[in-house]
Amino acid sequence: MPSKSSVKARACPLCGKPRADAFKPFCSRGCRDRDLLSWFGEGYRVPADQPADGTADQDNFTDE
Ligand SMILES: [Zn+2]
Repeated sequence: MPSKSSVKARACPLCGKPRADAFKPFCSRGCRDRDLLSWFGEGYRVPADQPADGTADQDNFTDE
């Protein structure tokens, strides 16, 4: 049986908050989207702290 101690709670690579399973390895959709958008690079400018879909959920939030 794997021990949970072998898998410590990971922190969001962007802001350091505890990650959410729904958005792992990130803490929220905002961080996830920001990371994804960063991969698009220079050709796709995104305002800081401006989620692509206009929402601003800071906490764990399941988008159904
Ligand atoms: Zn985060």
